[in-house]
Amino acid sequence: MVNRNVLVLGELKSGSLRSVSFEAIAAAQEIAGNGQVTAILIGEEIQGYSDEMIAYGADRVLTVEHKNLRNATSDGYAQALFKVMEEEQPDGLVFAHTALGKDLAPRVASRMDAGLVSDVTGIAREEETIVFTRPLFSGKAIEKKVITEGLMMATIRPNNIPPLDRDPSRSGKVESIDIEIENLRTMVKEIIHSKSDGVDLSEAKIIVAGGRGVKSAEGFGPLQELAEVLGGTVGASRGACDAGFCDYSLQIGQTGKVVTPDLYIACGISGAIQHLAGMSNSKLIIAINKDPEANIFHIADYGIVGDLFEVVPALVEEVKQMKVGV
Ligand SMILES: Cc1cc2nc3c(=O)[nH]c(=O)nc-3n(C[C@H](O)[C@H](O)[C@H](O)COP(=O)(O)OP(=O)(O)OC[C@H]3O[C@@H](n4cnc5c(N)ncnc54)[C@H](O)[C@@H]3O)c2cc1C
Repeated sequence: MVNRNVLVLGELKSGSLRSVSFEAIAAAQEIAGNGQVTAILIGEEIQGYSDEMIAYGADRVLTVEHKNLRNATSDGYAQALFKVMEEEQPDGLVFAHTALGKDLAPRVASRMDAGLVSDVTGIAREEETIVFTRPLFSGKAIEKKVITEGLMMATIRPNNIPPLDRDPSRSGKVESIDIEIENLRTMVKEIIHSKSDGVDLSEAKIIVAGGRGVKSAEGFGPLQELAEVLGGTVGASRGACDAGFCDYSLQIGQTGKVVTPDLYIACGISGAIQHLAGMSNSKLIIAINKDPEANIFHIADYGIVGDLFEVVPALVEEVKQMKVGV
């Protein structure tokens, strides 16, 4: 069995750890084998999260707190990470494939002259070798990749690698490190959240997505209701965004977000290739479309041919009834 020391960057969003951080710990454990997984938390107010990282499989946690690390900047985070890496001399480094991870990982890989596999959806250990799986060309091909030497780096796509079972009885050392973060060339002055900011689409387990067939901003009402009763969130096609029915932050697809929920309900979406690029890896796809020839039915596990304004409210009622019956 291999014995690697692997670092994982934990990420916070709206005061909680992002669930992809736990998935990254599971990936790091796979890479580490019998070695040690150390989670790192970087930011301005980051106390109180370490136990959760340990419960999900980190063996140890390092925290780097500094006022200049407010509003995650890859510049500041990189300074903190380089310092930690000098001390720790890790064999591996795992990030989430989030806005931060996508920005930070190439910067670190380039400085460390390390191999980086990004947007990883699967990871397997074959004796000493770690084999990473990642989709290519908007999911039309799958690549299996190994890093042949040196530091092993990866970014993990949310909702693909199962986290380890949470075990609150696990214990591990938590250390805080003082690092001077200075001479930042870029700083985030302010983060303005969009109105639709709720559950992060890329980490959502259930998505009810609307397309041009929803016809108006008000038309998203029944979809919102279905998402609420199912405990999910609303997404959209670019058709719906372009038509002004919803915010672009909801767009799923090649030029929007890539999502892998357990359940994706596509309502009034035709299934253009650019849309499929963002959602075709969803675990279960249900399509509602009044056109029986719509392309979305080719990738749907279940298809409902009908008017979404009749089908969606009926589904809402059905789910409500099921809940009453429980
Ligand atoms: C470079 C590039 C990048 C792109 N990136 C993206 C991207 O990231 N994401 C994306 O989604 N698209 C993207 N597109 C656009 C894409 O090609 C399609 O135009 C878009 O996905 C269509 O959106 P839609 O399915 O909502 O609309 P439409 O194709 O107009 O489909 C509407 C569907 O609603 C159905 N419908 C209508 N009324 C009802 C009703 N009452 N009940 C049930 N069904 C109904 C219709 O039968 C139809 O199938 C991109 C295009 C380009 C060129």
